[in-house]
Amino acid sequence: MKWTEEAERMMGKAPGFVRRMIRKKAETEAKAQKLDIIDAAFLNALHEKGKSKDHAARGFPVPKETNDPLHDAFDKKFGIHVGMFDGEELSGDPADHFFQALEKPAERAGASEPAMAYIHIPFCCTRCLFCGFYSEATEPEAILSYTDALALEIRQTADAVRSTGRKLHAVYFGGGTPTDLSADELSLLVKTVRRELPLSDDCEITIEGRLYNFDDTKVEAVLAAGANRFSFGVQSFDTEIRQKMGRKLSREEVIDRLNRIAELAEPYRAAVVIDLIYGLPGQTETEWIDSIDCAANETKIHGLDLYQINLIPSTPLFQQKDTLPPMADLREQGTLFSKGRKRMIEHGFDRLSIAHWGRDDRERNRYNLWNKRGIDCLALGAGAGGRWGNVRFFQQSDVKLYKQIVSKGRKPIASATEIPTFGKSTATMIGQLEQQQLDIQTLENPEAYRPMLEQWEKAGLIEIGEPCCLTEAGEFWVVNLQQLISEKTQNPSQTTNNK
Ligand code: SF4
Repeated sequence: MKWTEEAERMMGKAPGFVRRMIRKKAETEAKAQKLDIIDAAFLNALHEKGKSKDHAARGFPVPKETNDPLHDAFDKKFGIHVGMFDGEELSGDPADHFFQALEKPAERAGASEPAMAYIHIPFCCTRCLFCGFYSEATEPEAILSYTDALALEIRQTADAVRSTGRKLHAVYFGGGTPTDLSADELSLLVKTVRRELPLSDDCEITIEGRLYNFDDTKVEAVLAAGANRFSFGVQSFDTEIRQKMGRKLSREEVIDRLNRIAELAEPYRAAVVIDLIYGLPGQTETEWIDSIDCAANETKIHGLDLYQINLIPSTPLFQQKDTLPPMADLREQGTLFSKGRKRMIEHGFDRLSIAHWGRDDRERNRYNLWNKRGIDCLALGAGAGGRWGNVRFFQQSDVKLYKQIVSKGRKPIASATEIPTFGKSTATMIGQLEQQQLDIQTLENPEAYRPMLEQWEKAGLIEIGEPCCLTEAGEFWVVNLQQLISEKTQNPSQTTNNK
C-alpha cells in the first residue's frame, strides 16, 4: 500500500501509541475500498467517520440492575483513554501554543501547582504478543543519536519550564522500552533531567522497562544518576505463559533479577514495581493467584499493578487469538479481578488505586495517579503526549523528523489541541474514580449528577455518601463509570440514558 507524503506527514502528528493502530485501520479500509494509495483526503474522511461513530457510541447504556453486578452490570467495557481526544486542534505552529501555555500562570495555585514530565523512548528489541505500543526496532546507532537529540530537547525546553516557577514532582521514562538503552545513555538522560529541569526535592523519577537485558551495570548507572523508581512489565511468573507472550526470562530468572535489583536499589531507597496481567491465553485462576503469591512472597518488590488483558486489534495477540489457548472472557475476568483483589488484601498491600498496590511507603505511584487527574505534564521525546494548562500536545512521532526538528533548535510538537472547559472537571472525576471514590460536591452543579449516581447505586456499583465509594463491582467496571461521568461533565443538564 502506497502512502502519499502528505498522508505520511499526517501520521507523524498522530500520538505514538495509536500510530500503528491507525495505519493498520487505514490500510484495511483502503483495501476494502480497492484503493492502492492512501492520501490526506482519505485519512481525513476516515477520521470524520471515526468521530461520528464515537459520538454515536456516546449513548452508553445504563448499568443493569442485577443480582451479580460484578459479572452482569454491563455487557462490555468501553474505551481505555477516556475523554483524551476531545477538543479542537489549534491552528498555527503547535510549538508556539506550547510556549504560550507555559507563560500563563497555573489556574489553581500558580507557581506552587505541581507539574510532571513524560519522556518517551520509542525503541524495543522485542515484540510481546499483547503489545499495542508503537516502537522502533532497536538499532544501536539510531538509539545513540536519539538519546543525544532527546538530551538536547530537554536542555532546549528547560529555560521555558524554569521560567514558570513551577516544580516537576514526577518524571516518567516510558516507551517502548527505556531499559533497552545502554548504561551510558540512560545515565546521560537521567543526569540531564536532574541538572536541567526544576525538580521538587522528592521528585519521583521512574524508568519503565523489562528485566531482560537490564543488567547490574545499567541498574547501578541509573540509580547513581538519580532515578528512584523502576517499573517492570513481568505480566506472569508462569514460564510457559511468559514464553508464549514473547517474554524471554523464566520464572526463576525473573525472581532472581527482581531481588537483585531491589538489593541494588536499597541504598538509594528506590522502589521496584511490577505489572501482572490477568486474562492471558491459557492462564487459569490457579496460575493467576500463584503469580500474585510469587510476587508477594518470593520477591522484594515495593509495588504491584494488576491489569486486565486488553485485546487491541493492532496486536499480534489479536491476530493469533484463535490459534492460542483460550483467554478469559469478560465474566471470567470479573472473577479473576475479584480473586486478585482479595489476595492482595490478604498479603497486606495498600491500595494506591484500583489497579495499583504498594507494599510500603516507598512506592507512591505518583506519576500514574496524577496523570489520571490531568496534572500538567511536559512531553519530551518522539511520540510523547502531554498537557499544560488548557492545551494538550503530541510530539512528532517519526524519529527521523523528530531529530531533524530538534537539531534546528525547535520544539518538536506535531499537534496542539485545546482542552475543552469541562476537561479539568472530567479529569478530576476520572482521577477520583481511579481511587475508588467520587465527590460530586466539587462539581459546578452537583444535583445534576444525583439521578445518575442513584442509578449506579441500584446497579450495585457505588455506595452513595460523601464521598461516594465504589463497590468491588464498581471497581471492575471503572472504565465504564469514567466514560459515563466524562459524558456527564460535558453536558451536565443532559437527561438521556444516564440521567
Ligand atoms: S517489552 Fe514492552 S514495549 Fe516491548 S513489546 Fe513488550 S510490552 Fe511492548
